[in-house]
Amino acid sequence: MNITQLSRKNVQALTPYQSARRLGGNGDVWLNANEYPTSPNFDLTHRTFNRYPDPQPEAVIQGYADYAGVKQENVLVSRGGDESIELIIRAFCEANDSVLYCPPTYGMYAVSAETCGVALKTVPLTADFQLNLAEIEKNLNGVKVVFVCCPNNPTGTLIKRSDLLKLLQITAGKAIVVVDEAYIEFCPQATMVNELANHPHLAIIRTLSKAFALAGLRCGFTLANAELIGVLQKVIAPYPLPVPVADIAAQALQPQGIAQMKQRVADVLSEREKLQKNLENSPLVEKVFESDGNYLLVKFQDGQKVFKTLWDQGIILRDQHKAVGLANCVRISIGTAEENQRVVETIAAIV
Ligand SMILES: *Cc1c(COP(=O)(O)O)cnc(C)c1O
Repeated sequence: MNITQLSRKNVQALTPYQSARRLGGNGDVWLNANEYPTSPNFDLTHRTFNRYPDPQPEAVIQGYADYAGVKQENVLVSRGGDESIELIIRAFCEANDSVLYCPPTYGMYAVSAETCGVALKTVPLTADFQLNLAEIEKNLNGVKVVFVCCPNNPTGTLIKRSDLLKLLQITAGKAIVVVDEAYIEFCPQATMVNELANHPHLAIIRTLSKAFALAGLRCGFTLANAELIGVLQKVIAPYPLPVPVADIAAQALQPQGIAQMKQRVADVLSEREKLQKNLENSPLVEKVFESDGNYLLVKFQDGQKVFKTLWDQGIILRDQHKAVGLANCVRISIGTAEENQRVVETIAAIV
């Protein structure tokens, strides 16, 4: 048997997550991973590298708890929000349980479930990118975890709060509801954090990768009641956060770091509005979907042509053509004013 044949069957069958970086491209304008377009600047203040780090560094947990308005016991820090997705599946799903999610949405729910050998159930979003609660309810049998991304990546849609509450109702005592709030800083009023007190089966995923402009740091959070956090603590790696990561994350969560994040959000929102208007004026654009994130989902007459033309000119966007219901759609992260302008001009030059 060769090495691949020795690997688990579900790993043999696995298509790895097509991350923006993995997809490659030879660009100088990177608008395909919803990153912030410029880097914040931090110096390391901790220089003790011979000792293992604190498993859940106090300054990071305290900083995030204060920022999110919860207690320290409600916060778990991990290697990005992506690790949180996998921890929840690993901690709650037996081999014959399943995970439910609603495409088009973030690709890692499926990849993590498949990696863990857990079955997938999908209930597509409705035509206006909302939850199909009737179908979800019919499909809950054997489901241990339901993932909802809000605002949703890649559509930018906010899922109706009343629907999230209904989902929490129909899953109580049966399944964990994960609300992925990776982009919540761009619409902070929509957070479900204040519902934690009412729902022991609610878990909220957060990250420093988007509005905090620290995707390179690999730092994310789970917010939940203490009992759920305790379950995740059992399965997380012993030292998930390297010393330099904890050092920078703690600084980013200081009042000054939060103020800088809020300024960044304001800048992104005004750039998003400009880009949206400019794209809506293009004859090649069929629709720019309303977005509450740092990206726009755009439906073109010929999305693949636009994607390829910009790709060839070093402007790397995210093609969504193959996502459920998103034929001819391209996701464009909000870049700097100059980058967004280049997108608009390059599209205008396509005949
Ligand atoms: C970016 C993102 C995450 C988490 O990213 P990390 O870099 O792993 O923290 C989680 N969910 C969604 C929907 C995202 O777009």
